[in-house]
Amino acid sequence: MTAPLIDPFHRAVNYLRVSVTDRCDFRCVYCMAENMTFLPKKELLTLEELDRMCSTFIRLGVEKLRITGGEPLVRRDIMTFFKGMKRHLDSGTLKELTLTTNGSQLERFAEELYACGVRRVNVSLDTIDEDKFADITRWGRLQQVLRGLDAAQDAGLRIKINAVALKGFNEDELFTLAEWCASRDMDMTWIEVMPMGDLGNEDRLDQYWSLKDLRARLAERYTLTDLPERTGGPARYVRLEETGQKIGFITPMTHNFCESCNRVRLTCTGQLFMCLGQEDMADLRAPLRGSESDAALEDAIRAAIALKPKGHDFDYSRQQVDGQMSRHMSHTGG
Ligand code: SAM
Ligand code: SF4
Repeated sequence: MTAPLIDPFHRAVNYLRVSVTDRCDFRCVYCMAENMTFLPKKELLTLEELDRMCSTFIRLGVEKLRITGGEPLVRRDIMTFFKGMKRHLDSGTLKELTLTTNGSQLERFAEELYACGVRRVNVSLDTIDEDKFADITRWGRLQQVLRGLDAAQDAGLRIKINAVALKGFNEDELFTLAEWCASRDMDMTWIEVMPMGDLGNEDRLDQYWSLKDLRARLAERYTLTDLPERTGGPARYVRLEETGQKIGFITPMTHNFCESCNRVRLTCTGQLFMCLGQEDMADLRAPLRGSESDAALEDAIRAAIALKPKGHDFDYSRQQVDGQMSRHMSHTGG
């Protein structure tokens, strides 16, 4: 029996988020510069290596796997990877296989994802206004994403919409988005914009719309009931009594959620980040590529978990972006 992954603060690590590519077919202004330089292919873990990596984590007690990117569904042959992970769902060692996507490729992949055991998908969508959608994603087309959502629901996938709260951009869609999600039976979560990456063209503080304010505005129209639900991450949930729907808030800056953190993040190059807000990472690609047995990889994973920090250092409160990270969300996968 393998001992589970427990960090120095007695937190069991059972949730792995895996970025399978740094590439994307969108260029969301808060996430990427328009002319991004992507990693050379040889730097990326191959699909076989991703399988071996994830299978090792699952053997060490990871029960939930979230696939992300970049845009995970633009990685060539990514369904091969999902098909491989299905064996862990079938055996019961993996409890949930899920992904975060911009939705552009869902029309093509929804049915296959369902067949691989995926039941829930997070789709990032900040606006349902076509022109605004084109502005914020630069390269995206709203209609394509809406067709993806239809296909996903037809296939039986449950959808959660993730919207980044952006001052002066989607403030006016607070109620429209809530009602639209309710009408389509989709959950919704608002995310506070994070100081990730130096994009050169946007000022993080300018875009910052606090979820405290967002929540207060929501309460002007709806009765909000706090829900006890915790996922070990930064999300907190309320129910809107009038519609019965659940709304989540992810406030990595203004809330201390680190004490219950159960997750680590693997980049597409095999670096393990123990905390979204810290630069500490462990290279798992070298032990993976260095040996055909998984023993060295297992040791490296355990050594990394032993270094998981207590918490992060983001702080907007001093009107400057402290604890700012130089890496992009598309690298660690959000
Ligand atoms: N491409 C996929 C997508 O957009 O869902 C998956 C990767 S994306 C990096 C994951 C999530 O990170 C998305 O919901 C996106 O909105 C969010 N994100 C990207 N940059 C962000 C930032 N600076 N602050 C907050 N959330 C951000
Ligand atoms: Fe691509 Fe997702 Fe980043 Fe937008 S948020 S550029 S869709 S990776």
